[in-house]
Amino acid sequence: MSELFSRTRIQILLPLPLSGVLDYLMPDELQLQKGDFVTVPLSGREVQGVVWDTDPENRDVPEEKLKYVIRKAELPPLPESLMKFVSWVANYTLSPLGSVLKMALSVPRKFDKPKKKILYRLSPELPEKLSPARTRVAEAAVGDMPMAVKSWCDIAAVGEGVVRGMIKAGQMVPVEVSGEESFLKPDIELERATLSKEQRDAAEQIILQQRSGTFQAMLLEGVTGSGKTEVYFEAIAEALRDKTAQVLVLVPEISLTAQWLERFKERFGSEPVIWHSEMTPAQRRRAWWATICGEARVIVGARSALFLPLQNLKLVIVDEEHSTTFKQDEGVMYNGRDMAVVRAMHMHCPVVLASATPSLETLINAESGKYDWLYLGERHGPAELPQMSCVDLKKYPLESGSWISQPLRMALEDNFVKGEQTLLYLNRRGYAPLTLCRSCGHRMECPHCSAWLVEHSRFNKLECHHCGFNRPKPNICPQCEAVDSLVAVGPGVERVAEEVAVLFPDARLAVMSSDEIASPASLKRMIESIERHEVDFIIGTQIVTKGYHFPMLTLVGVIDADLGMSGADPRAAERTWQQLEQVAGRAGRAEHAGRVIFQTYQPNHPVLQAIVCGDKDLFLEREAASREAQNLPPYGKLASLILSGPDRSKVVGAAKALGSKAPHSNDLKVLGPVPAPLSYLRGNHRYRFLVKAGTSVNLQNEIRCWLDLLPSQRGVKIQIDIDPYSFY
Ligand code: ADP
Ligand code: ZN
Repeated sequence: MSELFSRTRIQILLPLPLSGVLDYLMPDELQLQKGDFVTVPLSGREVQGVVWDTDPENRDVPEEKLKYVIRKAELPPLPESLMKFVSWVANYTLSPLGSVLKMALSVPRKFDKPKKKILYRLSPELPEKLSPARTRVAEAAVGDMPMAVKSWCDIAAVGEGVVRGMIKAGQMVPVEVSGEESFLKPDIELERATLSKEQRDAAEQIILQQRSGTFQAMLLEGVTGSGKTEVYFEAIAEALRDKTAQVLVLVPEISLTAQWLERFKERFGSEPVIWHSEMTPAQRRRAWWATICGEARVIVGARSALFLPLQNLKLVIVDEEHSTTFKQDEGVMYNGRDMAVVRAMHMHCPVVLASATPSLETLINAESGKYDWLYLGERHGPAELPQMSCVDLKKYPLESGSWISQPLRMALEDNFVKGEQTLLYLNRRGYAPLTLCRSCGHRMECPHCSAWLVEHSRFNKLECHHCGFNRPKPNICPQCEAVDSLVAVGPGVERVAEEVAVLFPDARLAVMSSDEIASPASLKRMIESIERHEVDFIIGTQIVTKGYHFPMLTLVGVIDADLGMSGADPRAAERTWQQLEQVAGRAGRAEHAGRVIFQTYQPNHPVLQAIVCGDKDLFLEREAASREAQNLPPYGKLASLILSGPDRSKVVGAAKALGSKAPHSNDLKVLGPVPAPLSYLRGNHRYRFLVKAGTSVNLQNEIRCWLDLLPSQRGVKIQIDIDPYSFY
């Protein structure tokens, strides 16, 4: 009996979709602490996990059923702040704890210490006389630099035997180095831009807050080109004076930030540590290790960088904080911007939310004083804000098959003749959003989704933008078999480019959309070619709104300013405003003045009025008022539940059953179930509920209790999205 009592029970969290921890026994020889990485047995396999609790309260599983931890990894423990964050996110998003841990451990072979490599350098005591081959080796040496055997052979043009012989004879000596290149340290003393008064004030406020070592969220608002990046670079440099401080910068899409990285390198002399989903396993491992060992000082990444094992986080920046790409809309559905605020709170450091077009949520927090509000009102240097105007398409109707109105065409001509660059913006990939049959009216739809197929002319195919299904464009209508009767309806960027090519046969065009840009490298090439002024017209999707700075770009034409204004999304108007404002911000960023033209059927729409007349405050006030009236975020809480599955009747049955148990109170309403706007997606039927609640309601608890009332059903998946950004 006494022996039983001496055994220590601990709880391990595994990176698997389990909602809780599992109990194990701690072998005497392992002194395990909270956060330690361990390997444990699980149904005949070995699984890696983290010690979550060393003195658990819950001891329901009898001790004799427990297995021993197999081994402990040689790794610094998972920082306690990250454990806390993982629990917080799981609780907030109603996700299994293990699924959230998985995001923090999504690194291949993380338990293997980076390997040491053995290199060789010449011995300081070489004999006077060497064979000709060995002399060649001795003469090939580059200072004291150690090199691999293979490299010695290459530069001295000798066989491997020669080098091995020298090693054996002690003429070359081994040097052990870390197998992975280490990251260069940022140099904070490099020469830098002299900040304007406004910029300096903003930077000072961040620095003061940062030095105080306390949490504070700060909105850094400033028109595009006002120097927000310069300001937070200054704050980063100051934070790094503490030799162990780490800084995290979140950016919307890391693969799209080549220009940003260049600037960082100019300012700090070396590249930061980068983190995003498209990195190779080796790159991920290197960055993860550098973070947990404290070697990584500045980490710039996509939202998932929040889950890196940062040891001494002293400052968090969220650039383009309004961007919806911070929201992860599958798996653990979290908003990277909001979670960055929570992460900073746990780490007792400031978080700076930067944007030219802050989200309404952030603005309201700044207005109420919950967030500090730093404001940059002017563009840097001579650059002035562009001149804006609308073309009313009711007055200047488009000719059939044309998407460029006469006033816009004249402006394009004018700019082309002047030799300046023009951007035409249309947030639609491909050639045409719809293909239909002229004879029978049949529309080409995706067989797996309730969505039209989009024509991509370059590959002569029709593609579904939801599931990726594609097929060659047929010559015959699949319904009535009429020949050559399928016509393209509506424009995509490819079609606009075709029109520009006809209008300006001598012009050099570039189409910028995710179809054209397959990799960060190809994006970089395109950006450089635009910077070198090898392009006259850029025709692009929202990819071009991402903060680029092209000095010769002086005209922006928005092909369809009405796109995206309608729909079930309560943020539709706000988002359209942000997109248009951002795309307009690409014009005239240097000494040449800029001009922006919006083609629209609704020139009086509040969004356009806000941009064109500059009464942005009025627009935002109205938006805020309308959200408040409807109790929508941030004035109320919102969650969506999507039920989906391949068998429609099962999904409907489950949705009805759930609907009959839905909670209702003065402060909480459940709307639905209704078929989701995209009622069929990737072969699954979809039904949705919206839960609206007052800010004092514990929404997560309510939903948890509600779902507990019914057993989960086979073949029906329930996806919970707290504070949804997607409404299809
Ligand atoms: P934002 O991030 O607000 O869009 P940036 O920081 O990118 O603005 O600044 C826009 C341009 O102006 C950049 O090319 C930047 O280098 C330049 N710039 C901003 N502030 C200064 C300054 N104080 N001195 C020199 N150049 C500056
Ligand atoms: Zn599809």
